[in-house]
Amino acid sequence: MGRTRKRVHQAVTHTQLVDWAPLWWRGAATIRDGQVALDIRSAKQYNPQAIDASTGDAYTARLAPSLANIDHDQPAIRHERIERFVAEYGPLVTAPGADAVVEPVALYVQHARQVRLVFCAMRDLHLGSRLGAPRRQGWRPILESSNLPPFRSLKELRQQLTAYVAKILTDHISQCRMVALPDLRRHEVQLGPLAPTLLYLAYFRLAQHCAAEPLRLCDDPQCGNVFEPTDQRMKFCSPACSNRVRQRRAYARRKGV
Ligand SMILES: [Zn+2]
Repeated sequence: MGRTRKRVHQAVTHTQLVDWAPLWWRGAATIRDGQVALDIRSAKQYNPQAIDASTGDAYTARLAPSLANIDHDQPAIRHERIERFVAEYGPLVTAPGADAVVEPVALYVQHARQVRLVFCAMRDLHLGSRLGAPRRQGWRPILESSNLPPFRSLKELRQQLTAYVAKILTDHISQCRMVALPDLRRHEVQLGPLAPTLLYLAYFRLAQHCAAEPLRLCDDPQCGNVFEPTDQRMKFCSPACSNRVRQRRAYARRKGV
């Protein structure tokens, strides 16, 4: 009887509805002898393409700055950040579904550096006229590692950098397929990438940042992390960095510099 039929509401998850997107591993990793190993037994599966119901953003929206910030001078911090990266997003280049994950630390560092350089170049290009100022030459390693011809003017430098960044991005994002992903909270469909590995997804997210407002680099010279400002005046990635710089300045003033 229609009248007595009860409907039981069960929340459907993104994973159930997007069953064509492969699930990826993420979890605790150990770093030994220059290798990152994911412990598959304790790892969990997740969908990196999923849209976070609480923010409406893709779960991996902050993947590119997380990768860039692995590039740090101190090996201990580098390792800690790789571990955090693998716990949050999973291994960099192993395709989903693999039954063992061991990847070289050097690969993480290499791509972290490249992603960071692209952020630096975009920041410097965005600042425009300050591109040639000695303090703002984050872009310089890009030219040194590429075979670009020497530039004769700032305008030429800007053109070369822009074209080179576009090439780095294209080389990686051409591996992604565009798919339509359901936003289960707002009942909308978002265009998104289906990437063969996390690395390609990171470059896709990087391209999205480059096409929009560039992210910032922390103004603390000892930090330099890439971060997303929540306020236009934000100069530091964290209160800790802001405090450190303030204390250093106060100390310098007391010493009468
Ligand atoms: Zn900082």
